[in-house]
Amino acid sequence: MSNDNKNSPSEPSNSNFLRAIIEQDNKKGTYRRQGMPDVITRFPPEPNGYLHIGHAKSICLNFGLARDYSGRCHLRFDDTNPTRENQEFVDTIIDSVKWLGFSWEHNDTDYLNYASDYFDTLYLMAEYLIEAGHAYVDSQTAEEIAATRGSFSEPGKKSPYRDRPAAESLDLFRRMKNGEFPDGALVLRAKIDMASPNMNMRDPVIYRIRHAHHHRTGERWCIYPMYDYTHPISDALENITHSICTLEFQDHRPFYDWVLARLTETVTLPDGRIIGGFLARPLPHQYEFARLNMTYSIMSKRRLIQLVEEGVVEGWDDPRMPTIVGLRRRGYTPESIQLFCERIGVAKSDGWIDMATLEASLRDDLDPKAPRAVAVLNPLKLVIDNFPENLKDMCSAPLHPHYPERGERQFPISKELWIEREDFMEDPVKGYFRLFPGNRVRLRYGYVVECTHADTDENGNVTAVHCTYFPDSKSGTPGSANYKVKGNIHWVSAHHAFQAEVRLFDRLFSDPHPDAGGRDFREALNPNAKAVITAYLEPGLVTALPEDRFQFERHGYFIADREDSTPGKPVFNRIVTLRDSWGGK
Ligand code: ATP
Ligand code: MG
Repeated sequence: MSNDNKNSPSEPSNSNFLRAIIEQDNKKGTYRRQGMPDVITRFPPEPNGYLHIGHAKSICLNFGLARDYSGRCHLRFDDTNPTRENQEFVDTIIDSVKWLGFSWEHNDTDYLNYASDYFDTLYLMAEYLIEAGHAYVDSQTAEEIAATRGSFSEPGKKSPYRDRPAAESLDLFRRMKNGEFPDGALVLRAKIDMASPNMNMRDPVIYRIRHAHHHRTGERWCIYPMYDYTHPISDALENITHSICTLEFQDHRPFYDWVLARLTETVTLPDGRIIGGFLARPLPHQYEFARLNMTYSIMSKRRLIQLVEEGVVEGWDDPRMPTIVGLRRRGYTPESIQLFCERIGVAKSDGWIDMATLEASLRDDLDPKAPRAVAVLNPLKLVIDNFPENLKDMCSAPLHPHYPERGERQFPISKELWIEREDFMEDPVKGYFRLFPGNRVRLRYGYVVECTHADTDENGNVTAVHCTYFPDSKSGTPGSANYKVKGNIHWVSAHHAFQAEVRLFDRLFSDPHPDAGGRDFREALNPNAKAVITAYLEPGLVTALPEDRFQFERHGYFIADREDSTPGKPVFNRIVTLRDSWGGK
């Protein structure tokens, strides 16, 4: 696939079924409303963990559709579960969405919302549902409710409290709110159909008692609305048009629509009062798409927490983690993740995406951007015996081979160099063109040398390689054309090289399906996912700033770590190798 412009945010993305729906709606004018765009989407995370690459798919989809159809996308925290949520998670989610390149600002208004902002409204609507006969307070225990829900083949049993008078339910509901009952004593349930083939329609619980501190509303509430009740209402209050969620919510859609329908209609009570009419059409519509499953990875928040808490990785932003903060620290660019999301598209049924697709998007994004540099990762000394002792001769190389206009970098060559250990073989195998006694190679951007011999220690290990150079063979000089050699190896001057810590990262799991068949995913961990080495780098890299990215020639893409680099002492992470070694497509 070509890499130029594929990632430009303004370029229309792959077609997907949601685009077809939006275009139909736009044509029909389904959502044409005064002062509002035709497309309003939202990304609704629960602030109970860090975002991962699966969330990125949802973010790129929701924000991407809003961008492409001149609409807006809201960031909404679905914070109805006080015991699992906190400010740390809110902050990291905000950071991650911004870092991915998206904004919830539209016409100078910030659409950063919290479901907890709607607690008062949600409560009033619940009172209305009770009065209108659409909800009741159930005094059964959670176990009783579960036991009477029925099964796919059997209808559920009606609660003995289902027909308690509305006034009694209303009184109990108010007392629930006032803190008169302990957790679990009562719940508010929608009154729908205990015989519905859809289990979600069998009088779902819409409010529960939870005496817990909420990170935004503090101690104000001791009853909290359920997600399935909160979500459609939040969408409607925010004028969302297309409410996009993952497939497991398909069976929840009838309840989503039920809630909105009940809150749109009005009801005349026996005393003549007309109540309801909270919402107006057009109402938001829920659509489902397939969540991202990616090989060599896990997406479940619960398991990611386990990796952090058990110290398998060093934190949420460990560069091996599939979290957005981990991918960022590893060296992924926002554009590479956007490109990945475009390429995988949006499907209506679940499937698997090969991690190689993510890595290929990364390479395609970095290749034109990353300046080149030289690094010797597994060093072996090369001595140029006929090189003048104190001569420091400068060599020049392009910052980027395809963009000469970006300029050149300079680095010295001297008598002693570091080369890669694999670039020398005492007894070469067939087809080996690099250094072996009697063979000539070009020192990239420098001179042609001829290998003479190697020094070995008492165990026969090679400790240094010797060669002689041809002073008239320097790259970029007329004489260089007189030398034809097959091998071309990289090097750094031993005296001038910059020594740095380099972390060689690879995939966290060595199995494409770490938790297949209920197996403990920790058994699939890749023991070689992280190696820390000291490498010799081109001297200019000493000035690399945190998050500067490079291609280390022949090795791959590297980034100066944003946490551990200090001025004059960058530490590098390998983002990805130049080629896929995992057999991906
Ligand atoms: P939880 O199990 O805690 O509900 P979650 O991964 O669903 O975890 P949410 O914070 O509810 O987390 O997710 C926010 C949004 O991201 C939801 O709309 C959800 O559908 C979407 N999302 C989550 N995981 C994926 C995934 N793997 N692929 C695509 N979208 C996802
Ligand atoms: Mg969820």
